[in-house]
Amino acid sequence: MRSLLPLTVAALVVCALGRPSPITQPRSLSADPPRLTIRPPVRASNATSLESTVWNPPSDMVKPLEQVWERTLKRRGANTTENEYWSLMASNGSIKYCVNWNNTETVTSPQRVLIARALQKSMQEWVDVLVGFDGFPLTTVDVNVVSYAAKSVNQIQGDTTGLDINTVTQNSKGEPECDPRCYRTKYLDSKTGMSECPGGDKSSYDMVLRLETMPTYPGINILGIATKDWQRMHPGYFLSHANDEEMFVLRHEIGHSFGLLDFPDGPIGNQGGFLMIRPDHIIHVAEFDAWMLRDWWRKTKAHQTLAIRYTTRVTDESFSCPKTLQLDETIPLPGSRRTIFDFESINHSITPFEDASPPVIIIGSSMVGMFMGVLLGYHGIHSISFDRHPSTAIHPRAALFLLRTSEVLRQLGLEDLFISESEKNFDLDAGMLVVEKLYQGRTIAAYQESDPKEVAKVTPSKRLWLTQDMFEPLLRKNAATFGAQQKFGQVVEWYEEVDDGVIVIVRDTRTQKVKKYKTKYLIAADGNRSATRRKENIQWHGPGNLANSISINFKADLVPYLGTRAVHGVTYIMNADFTGGFRLIAGGKGGFLIVSKAKGRETGFEPDSVFEKEAREMFEACSGIDAEKCGFEVDFISYWTVAAYNADEYASKGGKVFIMGDAAHVMPPKAADLDIGGMGGNTGVADAYNLAWKMAYVLSNKASPNLLKTYNQERQPAGDFSMHQAFSRLVNRVFHGKGLECEKELPDLVCELGYRYTSGAIVPSDEIDMERSYENPHDPYVLPGGRLPHVWLIDVDGEKLSSLDLVKRNFVLFTTDVGSPWLQATEKQSIAIDAYPINSSSQPYLDVEDSTKKVWKMEDGEALLVRPDGIIAWKAPRMTSGHDEQLAEALRIVLHG
Ligand SMILES: Cc1cc2nc3c(=O)[nH]c(=O)nc-3n(C[C@H](O)[C@H](O)[C@H](O)COP(=O)(O)OP(=O)(O)OC[C@H]3O[C@@H](n4cnc5c(N)ncnc54)[C@H](O)[C@@H]3O)c2cc1C
Repeated sequence: MRSLLPLTVAALVVCALGRPSPITQPRSLSADPPRLTIRPPVRASNATSLESTVWNPPSDMVKPLEQVWERTLKRRGANTTENEYWSLMASNGSIKYCVNWNNTETVTSPQRVLIARALQKSMQEWVDVLVGFDGFPLTTVDVNVVSYAAKSVNQIQGDTTGLDINTVTQNSKGEPECDPRCYRTKYLDSKTGMSECPGGDKSSYDMVLRLETMPTYPGINILGIATKDWQRMHPGYFLSHANDEEMFVLRHEIGHSFGLLDFPDGPIGNQGGFLMIRPDHIIHVAEFDAWMLRDWWRKTKAHQTLAIRYTTRVTDESFSCPKTLQLDETIPLPGSRRTIFDFESINHSITPFEDASPPVIIIGSSMVGMFMGVLLGYHGIHSISFDRHPSTAIHPRAALFLLRTSEVLRQLGLEDLFISESEKNFDLDAGMLVVEKLYQGRTIAAYQESDPKEVAKVTPSKRLWLTQDMFEPLLRKNAATFGAQQKFGQVVEWYEEVDDGVIVIVRDTRTQKVKKYKTKYLIAADGNRSATRRKENIQWHGPGNLANSISINFKADLVPYLGTRAVHGVTYIMNADFTGGFRLIAGGKGGFLIVSKAKGRETGFEPDSVFEKEAREMFEACSGIDAEKCGFEVDFISYWTVAAYNADEYASKGGKVFIMGDAAHVMPPKAADLDIGGMGGNTGVADAYNLAWKMAYVLSNKASPNLLKTYNQERQPAGDFSMHQAFSRLVNRVFHGKGLECEKELPDLVCELGYRYTSGAIVPSDEIDMERSYENPHDPYVLPGGRLPHVWLIDVDGEKLSSLDLVKRNFVLFTTDVGSPWLQATEKQSIAIDAYPINSSSQPYLDVEDSTKKVWKMEDGEALLVRPDGIIAWKAPRMTSGHDEQLAEALRIVLHG
């Protein structure tokens, strides 16, 4: 609390977070010094386009700005910017006010309009200097007065439709107050939502304007006082100046709502002419105010718990879905005709076998098929993937590669390559925006899957933004080094399972030449219309087909319009007429627009039903950019169905044909979804990761073919889990209110890293109920079936590495004691096991943070046996003898499935 001292004759008293010092004589406006209008040159309302403003304050302001921030921290503590942030951001740029009409007068309808306008104008003037600066997600702020508090309802005159008038709750002095139960900051932290607020969400407010005379200074009307969530002014003064320049008092007070301080001790360094110090004659947000606010934004943004409204809220109970009807599972929506390819029996008796047949053939060389080939190659198994398409994906489709996929890339040694490719196009930490329009549209929300610092505690990897048409060629370039062969323009026309393998017939789509292969195992990554799934008579179930969407793939030069919006992997559009999203490439030189709901298109998009004119119109409506001016050109339009299915079995009855990726499951993609959807391709990668090492172990006689049965045991329920989580997100964000049944949402990190397997390929523990299908990566059980938790270690060169980096092609055994008999036992087994003691003095890896005890919860004498896919296979107990035999037995169980 501090006092405000320097008052000129006409000075107004303004204070933040405190009481003004006593003033003995009334102040009048007549002797005002001249008012100065010093507006910052860079602000949204005078900018021709929303170019981004970078942190580049004039040199004479640098030092004073540092001093301001020091003072702010000293005065308010490191975390106290939180409320201002929430007020503005958590309400998606829409600020709801309650006016506390704590006086004896009446207020008419036109006067209420004036009050609302003054609030809007003053708030916007501040926001104006932030637009385009360092990822600030708003362009405008919408201020609405939603309620009044008064002594009597009669004080609020005229049409009060839609306005809440609270005369019920009073403060301790018996004065009217805005209903504290409706204060939205409280709601944001609450599990019960706005249930305590009598009018519910509609009546909630973020800020309060108190229009009252101040008992301490009854004669002063040019007086403003503010805290972070309310401003207080004299009603008479406010109403007579609501429409004119004198509203500088309010502008100053609103500055406090952003956490800016007063400067009662006079200039800061050489800076003395700005609104927060001299609202008596600097009457607009000035250059120094602008830089103080920008500094506030970048510092606030950097604050880990505030930067973006993280989706941890999905754990909230309010996100469990109502139980009602399911959609029909199997009937395609009208118009979703697609070419259905089915295998037809071919007489191949006279076709000779190819001389060199690989041990594994893969149908499909898109995201999942190609990944499978690479993973098999990593484990030393040669494979060929055949794809009927002439080359890799042309449709960008998947763009978000989730944490487990990044960890798999890390194990393959490809993570850095993919990160650098991703960074060329996107800002990995920028999160997702929901806006009304791409250009100058109001920001409705800014999201990030979860706090990057929280993520960094559980994984060394990051989520990656990379569209599928960028990802696949990059993977393809590297596939050869792993011995994974890709053959495009080759259609698998037929296969049959025989005693010693699978016969596969492939036709070259250009030459029509047919080849016959004999392989040990066939993997079908042949997409959601999988002919293999049908041939094997495998059914799939799930909520079914949900909507028909389109992607308009286009070229255009959006660069001049986008500013900071170019860096987002996805920008969702939500306005009265459209729901969809932009995925841009090359900083805005093109990309695609997904349209999932459009005005006049209530039944969705039937194939071939959208023509160029409509595509242009949709582009303009979603982007706010003139198609002609930005050189918009449609490349092609793809039609696709939002659906959720999971196959009942992931393998043929004969046990030599396996399905994976979209052939096994489809999930609603991210379109118009606000959190992780995007699980389709990622779940497919997890399928491949699970099967690749097993197949390699079987093919190199290290394991029994029974091990392959555990692929279905582990991945089929995992597919169900992901499909239901993706569907729940769709229901809660997009289809809410339609009464669809869905499962309770789990946090994103649980979906990405917390799935637990129960199968023959682990030795169950009796420490927990092994049927628990997921765990919290922040507090994992560290027991068989779960992922080995990431902890940081230090190698002999002092370099940091993740425990995950020690999981390669072999099983890995960890102990905490260097002389553990378990370590010696690893040398007596039939397969190679990498063995590491990990503690604070171990070689070659040091556990400086004592993580093996704290995170892995291990005791001396125990051991963890980890599979080549990073799943804990067994937790070995402390024993006095028989280590060799016990380890051999554990391996036998695991490798025999
Ligand atoms: C708009 C959109 C956005 C998406 N976003 C994401 C996201 O952000 N993250 C995510 O993880 N997923 C996302 N997905 C899903 C993702 O694209 C799919 O899950 C992924 O492509 C599945 O890969 P796949 O290899 O299993 O199947 P597909 O990509 O469908 O590939 C199947 C391949 O098999 C080939 N094929 C089929 N039959 C034969 C045959 N008989 N002979 C030879 N070749 C054959 C086809 O030519 C095709 O190339 C999105 C999907 C869409 C539509």
